Amino acid sequence: MHLMTRGSLPMLRYSSLSEGITRGRQRLIAITRQDFGFDLKAWHDHLALTKSYNYRSMQRPGTYPQSILDALDDPEWVAAAELAERSQLLAKLVADDDRERNAITTAERRWAGRERPCPKCSHTFRSAGDRGQCPSCNNVFFASHPDGDHNWWQNGG
Ligand SMILES: [Zn+2]
Repeated sequence: MHLMTRGSLPMLRYSSLSEGITRGRQRLIAITRQDFGFDLKAWHDHLALTKSYNYRSMQRPGTYPQSILDALDDPEWVAAAELAERSQLLAKLVADDDRERNAITTAERRWAGRERPCPKCSHTFRSAGDRGQCPSCNNVFFASHPDGDHNWWQNGG
């Protein structure tokens, strides 16, 4: 819920507020198997009623925490939620996650036991999977994206 009202957490930063709050919604859907869209009050009522997630016993349906009221009062948050809704961002992020998962599975199969050159010292060796450690210089890297690019799977893996 904090991710959805704030759009980021100390360990989780996203490229836009729209993406952050949509990732928050995606997590709540995964936890509750329900979807209340970007309706923060509906999410609160559900979580408070079922006591699911990290909701405490003092939180009641119909009584909203300040963090929710602040978000609903914040033009930036409202605009970000509208943009996410309009651009069907949730469906896009879910599709991206699927593509990333598939690319990882494919890369694991493709690089299992196959020779790869170390990008640091050029030593050639084999590893059990995509990720391997160079026996010569101890450099750890993924054969599918030796440069460490986090978006490697978007370019066809
Ligand atoms: Zn090496």
